[in-house]
Amino acid sequence: MDSEKLHHFKEILLTELRRHARLVVAEQATAIDAAGDGAKESADLSLHDLLEDLTVKRGEQESQMVADIDQALLRIEEGSYGICARCNQAIDERRLEALPTARYDATCQAAIEDAKGNSARPTL
Ligand SMILES: [Zn+2]
Repeated sequence: MDSEKLHHFKEILLTELRRHARLVVAEQATAIDAAGDGAKESADLSLHDLLEDLTVKRGEQESQMVADIDQALLRIEEGSYGICARCNQAIDERRLEALPTARYDATCQAAIEDAKGNSARPTL
């Protein structure tokens, strides 16, 4: 991949990183608020527990996304970005446009998900 394209994907990743980093902070603040309310209004405790649990889980997903973006930026620095980590083939740029954090090409991603028996997850 040439440096112009790397720069292009780096910009996308940095934009995503900033967006998700803000979301993580917002989710954590919401989780803390939910915990505080739950202590005050014990009658609605189960609902609060549910909301809190949901909020924390969404926060974890966002944290995972931030970690994925971070890894992708690291691969740009290392010069391994856009190369499938499984078969060392170049990942289709259209795939990277859709999923800038992709570590595998579509073939390997499908094979990995098949191996996990995780067909319920959407293939990205
Ligand atoms: Zn591959």
